[in-house]
Amino acid sequence: MSGTHRCWAEIDLSALRENLAWIRHAVGAEQRIITVVKADAYGHGLKQIAALLMQSGTDVFGVANLTEARAIRSVGKGWPILMLGACLPDEVEAAVRDQVMPTISSLAEAQSFSAAGAKLRRTVDVHLKVDTGMGRLGAKPKEVASLAQAITQLPHLNLRGLYSHFSSAEDDAKYSCLQRELFVSIVDEIKTLGLKPDFIHLRNSGGVIFEPDTVSNTVRPGLLVYGIIPPGKRRLPSGLQGKLCPALTWKCQVSYVKTVEAGQRLSYGGTFTATKRMKVATISAGYGDGYLRSGSNHSKVLFDGRLCPVLGRVTMDQMLVDVSRVKSVSAGDEVVLLGKQGKKEITAAQLADWLGTIPWEVLTSITYRVTRLYRGGHAS
Ligand SMILES: *Cc1c(COP(=O)(O)O)cnc(C)c1O
Repeated sequence: MSGTHRCWAEIDLSALRENLAWIRHAVGAEQRIITVVKADAYGHGLKQIAALLMQSGTDVFGVANLTEARAIRSVGKGWPILMLGACLPDEVEAAVRDQVMPTISSLAEAQSFSAAGAKLRRTVDVHLKVDTGMGRLGAKPKEVASLAQAITQLPHLNLRGLYSHFSSAEDDAKYSCLQRELFVSIVDEIKTLGLKPDFIHLRNSGGVIFEPDTVSNTVRPGLLVYGIIPPGKRRLPSGLQGKLCPALTWKCQVSYVKTVEAGQRLSYGGTFTATKRMKVATISAGYGDGYLRSGSNHSKVLFDGRLCPVLGRVTMDQMLVDVSRVKSVSAGDEVVLLGKQGKKEITAAQLADWLGTIPWEVLTSITYRVTRLYRGGHAS
């Protein structure tokens, strides 16, 4: 299999199935799960992941645009889909036609969806968002009650959900607590008005791991579904070890091996000079595959069950690694960029740290030319 790909990702569908089961167990069976599959299911391949999550009993899908919503519909009908971003003005009618639930932060948005509902003779299920401190989308806490009432009075809208979003659940306990308490007071206020949105949700992956939640009936994890715990400053609760399984392993091959002498410069810009005789492998991945150039002279790959440093600049299609300590190296040998090889593992958090970014960006940077190979499932 590997012989036909220069750079590929192996995706273990059974890991996703187990991760979803663990999330369900962790939050309790009465909570519903909005699985977030934006950005090609965090680089795992939207259609295959959507099919797997449908089989595994997800309740709702969270997406970032209507193309993603259509891809999900093409796999299976009937699942509710929540658009997590604000719909752009020219997306409003299409969202109504495709029965994608929009996120509403203002009266103007509510009115435009009501108008589209009238035009298309549809009732539009909407989720009202409140900004408890993320500062990206959502109505101001003071305005939520009146906006919720306005939505219920608009003829073509149904207030289906109420939600908010943590900005730093994995880093900042104090701020997250303030966000959570504000959300609790808003949910109370909405209930006092006699309104009962079907979906009440606050917790992303960081929220699920670090924050209790007594008022929601739904969670909204992304990263956890793919088997990764958001790295941050907060101490992980005990008992999480080994509970989640990263689904994606990113690989390439050795394409060339040579010995270089002390003084030899390697790769563009000559940012690395050999200080001694070294064995160097050229491997078949680069920033054109999504391996960020910030890994130049900095990150490591797994070869022969050993961490091997990247030497010099990462180039578009190839990079160089120090294999001096490896006994036998030949073209065609497998290299792991992310994931396990033997007993060693490069976690997404580790790779993100080397690349100066976060696991979310590591995954969503993996480009189209990296073939995704699926294992352990019957997904289409
Ligand atoms: C992306 C996103 C999520 C999922 O975030 P994770 O940190 O990956 O769990 C949840 N909610 C909203 C609004 C999002 O944009």
